[in-house]
Amino acid sequence: MAKVAVLPGDGIGHEILPEAIKVLDKVGKFTYLHADVGGAAIDKYGKALPEQTIKACRESDAILFGAVGGPKWEALPPEQQPERAALLPLRKMFDLYANLRPAKIFKPLISASPLKPEILGDGIDILIVRELTSDVYFGQPKGIEGTGEDRYGFDMMRYSVREVRRIAKVAFEAAMKRGKRLTSIDKANVLHTMVLWRQTVEEVAKDYPEVLFSSMYVDNASQQLVKNPKIFDVILAGNMFGDILSDEAAIITGSLGMLPSASLNDKNFGLYEPIHGSAPDIAGQNKANPIAQILSAAMMLEYTFNMQKEAKMIENAVGRALEEGYRTGDIMSKGCTRVNTAEMGDLIAERLA
Ligand code: NAD
Repeated sequence: MAKVAVLPGDGIGHEILPEAIKVLDKVGKFTYLHADVGGAAIDKYGKALPEQTIKACRESDAILFGAVGGPKWEALPPEQQPERAALLPLRKMFDLYANLRPAKIFKPLISASPLKPEILGDGIDILIVRELTSDVYFGQPKGIEGTGEDRYGFDMMRYSVREVRRIAKVAFEAAMKRGKRLTSIDKANVLHTMVLWRQTVEEVAKDYPEVLFSSMYVDNASQQLVKNPKIFDVILAGNMFGDILSDEAAIITGSLGMLPSASLNDKNFGLYEPIHGSAPDIAGQNKANPIAQILSAAMMLEYTFNMQKEAKMIENAVGRALEEGYRTGDIMSKGCTRVNTAEMGDLIAERLA
């Protein structure tokens, strides 16, 4: 039976993850391996990613992750902080190089977007594919050297053909399953690394003649995202440009509590998590929106378990609950019915016909 490591982490992770499991249990049979991560694991075992948690992940086909961190652990040295000491090693350990972040606006929530209605039309549906384990964040050498006014900082932007090719393939495969349009982001006009990026992506594009492919400079892409977001279907970007553009795309959907993500390796093993954090300000109050977590579970079905039909069913059930006017506090608007975390989970599970 399909095995899922369930890592709620901290804060609202403990409230939203059970809702995702409620929904998963309606569409399939899974064995869950529960484990602590982040602050909860620091309190119990003295470290954010203990051995038993790693073991649970290794024995599973996928990781369903809540969120980690909170004020209680903020005073710890940076290398012991929950996010840095749990998420980064997990990404490295499982070579989770492909980060997929959909930025989609469900029609009933269009008014939550900061963009004008005439720009949004009937909504946007973009998938950002970001490379997650290389680029200027990891390239060596890096550091700060020198003295006084001559002190300088440096980081190495570096991509190999192999690294670009594998993330480009993920993006093209995703485009084939969606709108068959792909925009690759670079800065090939000034950076050598990005010249290699562009050449390599153009090579990969030849294997996908059905996909309408283009390259775009990152500065232009950041403008187009707010001016003309509907031109995008799949956006492919390196680690740094993808980091920035995926946050920009998230904010134009208007609701942090709605957005899932997946980080995948070559074997379809993935870590699936909402893009938001542990929301300590509302933790323990049954107020959090579980939809980002539920949609993360749907991504897990799609990408790890190849259960496309069930993934779509979940997405449709979320759409239906929203169309019927049910809202958690973060997406509440006039005339709608306010529900709590568990009620939203129930409503979605009930609509999985
Ligand atoms: P956050 O995403 O936790 O919260 C930002 C705001 O959005 C808060 O007002 C919160 O109440 C609200 N919010 C977030 N998710 C929501 C949901 N599902 N439903 C309703 N409202 C929601 O970001 P933050 O406050 O900057 O960080 C809190 C903690 O989370 C920090 O310790 C941070 O390091 C950590 N964090 C973890 C991750 C992760 O685990 N991947 C990501 C980001 C932040």
